[in-house]
Amino acid sequence: MNPMRNVSVVQGDITTFDVDAIVNAANTSLRGGGGVDGAIHRAAGPQLLQACERIGGCPTGEARITPGFGLPARHVVHTVGPVWGGGTRGEADLLASCYRTSLALALEHGLRTIAFPAISTGVYRFPLERATRIAVREVTAFLSTHGDAIDQVTFVAFDRETFETYRRVLAEEQK
Ligand code: ADP
Repeated sequence: MNPMRNVSVVQGDITTFDVDAIVNAANTSLRGGGGVDGAIHRAAGPQLLQACERIGGCPTGEARITPGFGLPARHVVHTVGPVWGGGTRGEADLLASCYRTSLALALEHGLRTIAFPAISTGVYRFPLERATRIAVREVTAFLSTHGDAIDQVTFVAFDRETFETYRRVLAEEQK
């Protein structure tokens, strides 16, 4: 099966997506923050913070799951991307791990439609092109082995540059 069949990119606000799970680019405290994290907490309501506080935190490169509460999405997978520090601190492996562990968690919970933001490419400053290649590679690899269990992975680009970068990298992958 062609794993690219189930992968797409759209430009938009991830908090509006009606999917089994949206992925949050969280921080290790899971207490909310700026960027996509802040937007998800605002849209989900205060119960999300309470659920995150019960979990207590999450190490970089791992993922945790909560309900979606006030969101259209049924669940939120909170993953903690690496802060870019020049590339010599294992950032690429940690970012790859975010995508893998998020997808594994989705699989474990029987979730079939998942939307990802561009993890670590905002405040955490991971170079966009490199991050995009890692995201596309990991999702494609995962779908090539578990594609029957997952119907759709959507990359949600908030801005035009991110959208165009994903579109280009996905097109190269489809060749
Ligand atoms: P990080 O700290 O992991 O870098 P950010 O939230 O700062 O996380 O940025 C990650 C990406 O999420 C950036 O491309 C940013 O533009 C994007 N983003 C911000 N708000 C939203 C949103 N509501 N929906 C989708 N993506 C968003």
